[in-house]
Amino acid sequence: MTAPHALFAPKHDDLGPVTIFGPDFPFPYDDWLKHPSGLGYVPAHRHGEEVAIIGAGMAGMTAAYELMRMGLKPVIYEAARIGGRLRSQAFEGAEGIIAELGGMRFPVSSTGFYHYADLTRVESKPFPNPLSPATPSTVIDLEGKTIYVEKLDDLPPMYREIGGAWAKALEEGAGFAALQDAIRARDVATLKGIWDRLIPIWDDRSFYDFVATSYAFASQPFQYREVFGQVGFGTGGWDSDYPNSMLEILRVCVTDCDENQRYIVGGVEQVPRRMWRMRPEKMAHWPAGTSLEKLHDGAPRPGVTKLARSPDGKIAVTDRWGSTRWYDAVLVTCQSWLLTTYMQCDESLFSPKLWMALDRTRYMQSSKTFVMTDRPFWKERDRQTGQHLMSMTLTDRLTRGTYLFDNGDDRPGVICLTYSWMSDALKMLPLPVDKRVRLALDALRKIYPDLDIEKHIIGDPITVSWEADPNFLGAFKGALPGHYRYNHRMYCHFMQERMPLAEKGIFLAGDDVSWTPGWVEGAVQTALNAVWGIMNHLGGECAPDNPGPGDRYEALKPLELAE
Ligand SMILES: Cc1cc2nc3c(=O)[nH]c(=O)nc-3n(C[C@H](O)[C@H](O)[C@H](O)COP(=O)(O)OP(=O)(O)OC[C@H]3O[C@@H](n4cnc5c(N)ncnc54)[C@H](O)[C@@H]3O)c2cc1C
Repeated sequence: MTAPHALFAPKHDDLGPVTIFGPDFPFPYDDWLKHPSGLGYVPAHRHGEEVAIIGAGMAGMTAAYELMRMGLKPVIYEAARIGGRLRSQAFEGAEGIIAELGGMRFPVSSTGFYHYADLTRVESKPFPNPLSPATPSTVIDLEGKTIYVEKLDDLPPMYREIGGAWAKALEEGAGFAALQDAIRARDVATLKGIWDRLIPIWDDRSFYDFVATSYAFASQPFQYREVFGQVGFGTGGWDSDYPNSMLEILRVCVTDCDENQRYIVGGVEQVPRRMWRMRPEKMAHWPAGTSLEKLHDGAPRPGVTKLARSPDGKIAVTDRWGSTRWYDAVLVTCQSWLLTTYMQCDESLFSPKLWMALDRTRYMQSSKTFVMTDRPFWKERDRQTGQHLMSMTLTDRLTRGTYLFDNGDDRPGVICLTYSWMSDALKMLPLPVDKRVRLALDALRKIYPDLDIEKHIIGDPITVSWEADPNFLGAFKGALPGHYRYNHRMYCHFMQERMPLAEKGIFLAGDDVSWTPGWVEGAVQTALNAVWGIMNHLGGECAPDNPGPGDRYEALKPLELAE
């Protein structure tokens, strides 16, 4: 790997860094992207042909960018705004001071995503997670007791014991070290050997089940599970995920999604926005200077309301103003529930089994509320205690996670007063922004009784509840026990050779199609699968020295469980 962001990956002796390489489909997307032969070709008679891309989030933009480089003409439809769930909302009047409403911390193991972050030349810095070196101090407030820590070693013994129990549980239940070493070594046989044995065991069981039945936790008081659920193992509370399939949690841990996370300075939305305007140097068919923005005369087409198969076999895409265009290939990247809510979609476009998967996809809720402050006042120290005035805060109170963003001593700071999921997010759902801020400040006052946060607030607060937005209906997928088969149907849908004609030509991508929902790398990797699928559908192929995900599918394909 040669990308600048690769430098941030920790080194491990003779093995490579941990990357999001499988474990279900261990295809090296990063190597495919960087290969000098490029991703592939479509026949010259297809050059300039329109391909519909529904959604201008990271998946849609990745696919559109790569298909344009192959000489096709992506036609992007977007119902809301470029970036999708990479949404960096600026505070009014404050240049570059933003609230990250969707994705905000990007593990360096996301090598596909960082390929595009590097191409678009965004800057990054370590994310201020609990107890990370980038975080001046962390406060853990549980059951009314507040602990202040600046370094890991300051944690009371119980927390270290809980950390140890989690590491032991992973080793005992999943052969964690060997699995991670296989990822580092990109040793597909060993990786699949271990992972494919775990799938049938842990698909049926929840994260909570894994923790509660592990020897490491079962031999400890119940409180250990409770505290582990509140504090988590890197980025904050995990009890919102306790009902999820354990396979999903294992993927997050084994691919280091929860480690070494970085923040994109000025906002991650810059990545898809710059891809929209980028003029790639090497492109088939298109003259120098062509960009997605130019191909669209400046703006994406409106949201899609109808998808239907037309009598000539093409797929008819109708936008919200009733304009219809016909395509041989269409890529859908919005959350799958929108196929039956925002859109009227011909049932015949997907098999009943796939519809079952698309409809049963379970989205998690998430809410965030931000305020801008006059300066990063929290770094000042209390004269009596010597502690920072305020810290990154994890609590069992309403706020759950409070994050502090330091934009420099002479610039406004940003506080994410509350970042919560599931039931904690639902508590906020019906409330207007002022009430959300008030409730969060009230909760924080119980932790910081002498601190007047209000006096530092400037500008208007910003809030989001993804489940309240009709273009999303939820934050991200959180697979439940028994959902592996659904995931398999959705993920493998880009391999269309054996499908009936009536189902060909429509492709799916996005983090909800991936094995790593809630992580942008899943959006990038599934978009690259769709690029391969569309190229193949239009008669194209990869260079022989740089086979793509479809070419290596038989050797790498995810385990199929009996239906
Ligand atoms: C609260 C939250 C926190 C997150 N945290 C992280 C994180 O820390 N790290 C990380 O890596 N990832 C994180 N993620 C996940 C990351 O944001 C997503 O994986 C990624 O942005 C998904 O991209 P996508 O293209 O798959 O989907 P989207 O970004 O959802 O793009 C789909 C697009 O389709 C559009 N659309 C919907 N309906 C239609 C229609 N009918 N017609 C046309 N367009 C339509 C939508 O408006 C949207 O722009 C987080 C997400 C959320 C919500």
